[in-house]
Amino acid sequence: MSILEIKELHVSYGHVQAVRGLTLNVDEKAIVSLVGANGAGKSTLLKSIMGLVAVKSGDILLQGASITNEVTSTIVSRGIAMSPEGRRVFPQLSVMDNLVLGAYTQRGGAGQREDLERMFTYFPILKARKKQRAGSLSGGEQQMLAIARALMSKPRILLLDEPSLGLAPLMVNLIGEIILQLNREERTVLLVEQNARMALKLADYAYVLETGKVVLQDEGAKLLQNDHVVKAYLGG
Ligand code: ATP
Repeated sequence: MSILEIKELHVSYGHVQAVRGLTLNVDEKAIVSLVGANGAGKSTLLKSIMGLVAVKSGDILLQGASITNEVTSTIVSRGIAMSPEGRRVFPQLSVMDNLVLGAYTQRGGAGQREDLERMFTYFPILKARKKQRAGSLSGGEQQMLAIARALMSKPRILLLDEPSLGLAPLMVNLIGEIILQLNREERTVLLVEQNARMALKLADYAYVLETGKVVLQDEGAKLLQNDHVVKAYLGG
């Protein structure tokens, strides 16, 4: 069953039509990947789901109810969170304070302490660094912090924008493992990646975006064998 449905979505920045009639579905408890070149509209789609850019036409449905152009705090409280591209952590704040900010829809207290402990189980390195300034973490550690911060709002759907960007292969593998673990814990993941191989290996289902539209869709494993995907995105 689809938990998230995107229907005929159009998003523009002035004259630039970034998303042009995009339709896709995300099934509950699935990992769904979006692959595509620079400028295909992947980040714009995630931002429009989060209410960070205005939707011109079309609809975004969460469990059948429209969340199109809702304010971001409402969307977060309805159970969606995003780890944005470029590891946007608050560099001057400690690791701990970055995490607490991610839980801003909840009050502090015991629940929050439990959530912090859970994050430190997923990402033990963040526990060791909890008092350190986020800006002093390595790229991979900042990526983990950005994911952990998004998880602090206890989302049912986690949107991840380019989590592997700029990371060494070992760290990319680790991020992949974490995505699989989150999914085993029944979280739905919508993953945007330029690393098409990683994205398709992880995906139950995947979409290929070109110039703001879906041009191909299938199970991740099947798209890994698709001629166009191999030539255009897997260096084949
Ligand atoms: P990338 O992987 O490079 O981030 P993407 O698939 O995520 O690519 P988007 O960032 O969604 O693509 O960009 C889609 C189109 O919208 C591009 O043509 C881009 O130049 C344009 N665009 C994105 N953000 C803005 C903005 N703030 N103002 C104007 N144009 C924008």
